[in-house]
Amino acid sequence: MWNDGIIEAISKTSMLHLDLTHLGYEKYSLETKETKKNCIKDLINKIKYIKTDRRLDLAKRVLDSAKVPEPSSLMMTDEQIKKLHQAGMEIGGHTVNHPILSSVDKATARREICENKEYLEGLIGEPLHSFAYPNGKPGKDFDLEHVALVRDAGYRCAVTTSWGRVEKGSDLYQLPRFTPWNKNPYMFMFRLFFPPSKKRTTRL
Ligand SMILES: [Zn+2]
Repeated sequence: MWNDGIIEAISKTSMLHLDLTHLGYEKYSLETKETKKNCIKDLINKIKYIKTDRRLDLAKRVLDSAKVPEPSSLMMTDEQIKKLHQAGMEIGGHTVNHPILSSVDKATARREICENKEYLEGLIGEPLHSFAYPNGKPGKDFDLEHVALVRDAGYRCAVTTSWGRVEKGSDLYQLPRFTPWNKNPYMFMFRLFFPPSKKRTTRL
């Protein structure tokens, strides 16, 4: 994953300044945790809408510039996915190369969705039921055409990154999500009981 490469490059580098002007980006200061965080955020936001093969190439160049070796064990292996599934976790789909669906043509989007589903189903020996749209912003990262592709691929539901809670009548193929995570247990409880109200999405 290109974004893991970026995170790895910036968090592991011992360089205090990183000049990425040769890639069309900036000269970044990496002196503090905060500036490293800002650099990662800036690079990911700039690279995420670029075509999939170019994104991987850019991530490799950032790793090179930061003098950090390419990570090899950040993603789960087939064996680990099988184990996770056998232990009772649900495995869902998320495309092969993680493209922003609205930035690729329809045939590519269909292939990304279907080949990922077939591969994972072959691995776990069961049909996949739920899908997550890469980056997941309704109307920006995917549209109703992609919702139809996901439904036609045989998925029963799909989640977005639209912040909100699922309610009766929510679109099963554009379910909103939110994270109640908080280090303070009371805040965690508060966020669990008072989730954000639902955002409206275009229904299919
Ligand atoms: Zn993702």
